[in-house]
Amino acid sequence: MNSRDFLSFTKDLLKKKTKNSLSLKLILAIGVLLLIGSGFFWYMIIIRGEQEFIKYSLSFYEGYSEMIEKSLEKHMLYNDRSSINETLKKVSTVVDIAFVNIYSHPNGVVRFSSNKRFIDSTATTSSSACFACHGKRKKLIEKASWFVEKKSASRFMIFTRPILNRPACFNAVCHYHNKNKRLLGVLEARYSLARLDNKMKQQKLFTLVSGVIFTLFFCIILCIVLWRIVIGPLYILADALQRVSKGDLDFQININRKDEIGMLARAFNSMTRELKTSRERLENWAKELEREVEKKTEEIRRGQEQLVHTEKLASLGRMAAGVAHELNSPLTGIVTFAHLMLKRLPPENKMDREDLEVIIEQAERCSKIIKGLLGFSRALPSEKTDVNVNDVISHTIGIVRNQAKFHNVKINTSLSPDLPDIRGDASQLEQVFMNLLINAADAMNDRGSINISTRLIREDDADHIEIEFTDTGPGIPEEYMDRLFEPFFTTKPPGKGTGLGLSVSHGIIKKHGGNIRVKSTPGKGTSFFIRLPVPENRDLKE
Ligand code: ADP
Repeated sequence: MNSRDFLSFTKDLLKKKTKNSLSLKLILAIGVLLLIGSGFFWYMIIIRGEQEFIKYSLSFYEGYSEMIEKSLEKHMLYNDRSSINETLKKVSTVVDIAFVNIYSHPNGVVRFSSNKRFIDSTATTSSSACFACHGKRKKLIEKASWFVEKKSASRFMIFTRPILNRPACFNAVCHYHNKNKRLLGVLEARYSLARLDNKMKQQKLFTLVSGVIFTLFFCIILCIVLWRIVIGPLYILADALQRVSKGDLDFQININRKDEIGMLARAFNSMTRELKTSRERLENWAKELEREVEKKTEEIRRGQEQLVHTEKLASLGRMAAGVAHELNSPLTGIVTFAHLMLKRLPPENKMDREDLEVIIEQAERCSKIIKGLLGFSRALPSEKTDVNVNDVISHTIGIVRNQAKFHNVKINTSLSPDLPDIRGDASQLEQVFMNLLINAADAMNDRGSINISTRLIREDDADHIEIEFTDTGPGIPEEYMDRLFEPFFTTKPPGKGTGLGLSVSHGIIKKHGGNIRVKSTPGKGTSFFIRLPVPENRDLKE
């Protein structure tokens, strides 16, 4: 863990994540356990140290007390008071000695003391000097004894040594002691433990401070280790999960460890890979579905348009058939009688003859329109036979070639020789081809070239013959493309076009079970494609 990670980790601990942080809980639990454990450990060390100090002081003070007793013994035997006082005075200069008293027994009066203040004062049986024998035991203790006494804030170690009546005492010439007396007095040496206590206090403080520093240091090391091994990777995992939940499925965790965290990271990585694959699959499905829906919608739209168009054509066809039927008879009468009148008129009556010829011409034009209307309404009878499309095309070309309109138009053909026959009406198909040729020539202003080709193709698992008429005319503007097959749509000047040619052609091709399409590039030319179905059990032309 680097210092930045550790800082952010600490910030996290101090901020929102403090309460529920796993790391904090772990560190607190381990820290508390550590504090209790180390506290107990340090406490034991302190207690043991204190005991050792007391033991050491005891042996030291005991030896010192014995030495005092020994140095006073001779002076006491000779009752040399000044030497006793001199010795006690010297003794009192030693550090730690509070005072040394010599009590007489049994009255408890202080005979000698290192502190003049105590001389001639009297001790009671509960006093520290008398306590060893007059305490609980109520029995003379012939050996030295000691105890620790606490007075206000200070502690003292008190040694009492009984001064027993020995032969040297009761036989001494200098002063007299009754032989039967067991105890002559008591020597009390009182040592201050202030220096020791001070040292102990320092030791305790040092132990406490080093204990706290050790615990803190241990906790920090623990934090670092925990962060590197557990918490850090958990944060990375949590962050990665958040990214995945936001849709970032490319994110991979880079933890290459063999422990449980490594296992978790590997499981996470394979999970995101799986999720990504599934999402891509779903997206592909969705796109496929979208495309399918678009295709179907387009088909439905086209179907609807076709339906509307068919409906329109049907009602228009019915009306056109009625009108054509009604007009056909009077027109036939006009043309017939105009011809009769023309025959009767003398050749020199040029003016009337010319007028009659105009009447006949216009009447024939009307009759042509009516024929077109009848064709559009499909009122004309159709006879279906086995038809060879190439033959029909060749026959149509043969008719138009002789017309002045096509003198400057080059007609190229590329007819597939192996075309099967289709079932159809040859004269109606001829009408369609003728119409396409005339339209092409009109568009090219009667000069240019028209390429006609035929081929056998497979469409919707069935054989079809495709016929293509391509001219080198100016093409059809984009805005007209949708209206080309509408009845009465024409861009030709009044009197020249009826706007029925393509709609009649469309009707005839439909009636043959085929379709007619147009492709045009403005400025380059136009191509019409007609597809006619081939009957299933046909004989192929050799
Ligand atoms: P008409 O020939 O009486 O105008 P059509 O239905 O045959 O009626 O043709 C409709 C219109 O289609 C024409 O007026 C013309 O604008 C356009 N058209 C047809 N064929 C071509 C072509 N080969 N090149 C350019 N425009 C064409």
